[in-house]
Amino acid sequence: MNNKCNIIFVTGGVLSSLGKGITAASVATILKHSGYKTTMLKIDPYLNVDPGTMSPLEHGEVFVTDDGAETDLDLGHYERFLNTNLGKKNNITTGQIYSAVIKKERQGKYLGQTIQVIPHIVDEIKTAIYKASKGFEFLIVELGGTVGDIEGAPFLEAVREIIFENDRHQTMNIHVTLVPFLKAAGELKTKPTQHSVQELRRIGIQPHMLVCRCEKNLPEQLKKKLAFSCDVPIDAVIQAKDAKTIYAVPMEFLQDGIFEPLAKHFKLDKTRPDMAKWSLLVENLLKPRQKLKLAFVGKYLKLKEAYKSLLEAISHSGAKHSVKVEIVWCDSEDIEKVGASEILGECDCVLVAGGFGDRGIQGKIEAIKYARTNDIPYLGICLGMQLAIVEYLQNVVGVKDATSVEFDENTKEPAIYLIEQFISTTGEQQFRTTKSPLGGTMRLGAYDFTAKDGTILAKAYKEKKQSERHRHRYEVNPVYKDRLQKAGMIVSAHSGKLIEAVEIPSHNWFVAVQFHPEFTSSLEYPNPIIDEFIKAGLDGK
Ligand code: GLN
Repeated sequence: MNNKCNIIFVTGGVLSSLGKGITAASVATILKHSGYKTTMLKIDPYLNVDPGTMSPLEHGEVFVTDDGAETDLDLGHYERFLNTNLGKKNNITTGQIYSAVIKKERQGKYLGQTIQVIPHIVDEIKTAIYKASKGFEFLIVELGGTVGDIEGAPFLEAVREIIFENDRHQTMNIHVTLVPFLKAAGELKTKPTQHSVQELRRIGIQPHMLVCRCEKNLPEQLKKKLAFSCDVPIDAVIQAKDAKTIYAVPMEFLQDGIFEPLAKHFKLDKTRPDMAKWSLLVENLLKPRQKLKLAFVGKYLKLKEAYKSLLEAISHSGAKHSVKVEIVWCDSEDIEKVGASEILGECDCVLVAGGFGDRGIQGKIEAIKYARTNDIPYLGICLGMQLAIVEYLQNVVGVKDATSVEFDENTKEPAIYLIEQFISTTGEQQFRTTKSPLGGTMRLGAYDFTAKDGTILAKAYKEKKQSERHRHRYEVNPVYKDRLQKAGMIVSAHSGKLIEAVEIPSHNWFVAVQFHPEFTSSLEYPNPIIDEFIKAGLDGK
């Protein structure tokens, strides 16, 4: 089989959390900036069909794509590095692969055959990989997990077969591995890498490049040793020291000479990447000229990974304005205990992020009230918008019992409610009730909205018609719209008939949006409304 797209497989050895995702995204960024049409694919060997129903504490954030896929958070890194839109076809899981094969089996598509991991599962994986490569010059595939994991085996077999059936200059394996520093011996050790490469070769995959995570510089003689024992060209042994920011990694790889072995292997005709704008932004991140204190009110504060995209989006804006945004973590349950001013007092701006369930709700409402009554710039995202409306209804409009049906199913004042019928991103009529299964029944993906003239939102987005991504079950109840507007909280955008954003014009800067702006922010193009929020925080200092 001949496929025109070059494919790079990024595998991991020794242990997890070595930064395969950032390595894959950095290699993709280098190729993109060299002028190649580049895309990415994440393979997750777990059995869930998608991470949508996993707890953020278990898995970190669930990233949402334009086409409404709930994906691994690595896809967020890919989009932020490449400034591109990925989708359903860019994240595959064991759950998806097996579901597809079993569905075909039930439909009688393999009639007469015994369905087996080889060839049926492996073929399904290969089809998914080739599908993601269509129309591109480079596909970077990151395989989750570590070489040797049982659940990764069918995927590695698919990798081996794809390498086998393509021209050897069209595919590449980059193995990300650990070169630990042993304090007692005072040395960097290569043995774990050698073992991990042996395991790869046992499966039939010979790495073409090693990316070595290490705490100290990898000396030339160790690179030689690794090259010799693992059969990898010496210039293709790349060091990956801990970086101060993930966005510095492509620059550090380039400094260590990653471009030359890539160019040699793929016979690249284009010149070195143009990273001028990128390196300026990285410079701003590393040496910011200003400072800002942002109160981040949330409930999953033990695992910051749950807010990955939002934190990155804030740092994109920080890079643009050369500001160090200091995040002050404000646990909503602590606010309930000691009051908002105690916890938010020193901050320049307040952010209430998205969330699910009723724990910590009152603390969030108090944080919103504090920002509103003290004229502190406020941005509410998703649940942070729903609660801004609840707070306004309770404390300004006088609807004391206003709440969301998420917290009280039988409330008499359902300010935030469940709409049972809606049109999905693909134009299909969808139904959901309180009894619907939780997997895949939210409003997901990008929806258009129109910003009202003269609002902060319209100013931020320039074009009136825009789209942003959603991930929520509940909506603002339009029954309360007139009362809200009369009392000074205006609806600044609609998405179809649904209320998409609100603002308080008499306030210094108060914006709350139903969508998740953080999903469309990238280092080179920060999200407009988050950027305005950061600017408002700076202006108010
Ligand atoms: N829990 C709310 C809902 O489902 C908000 C979700 C969110 O903040 N992502 O509508």
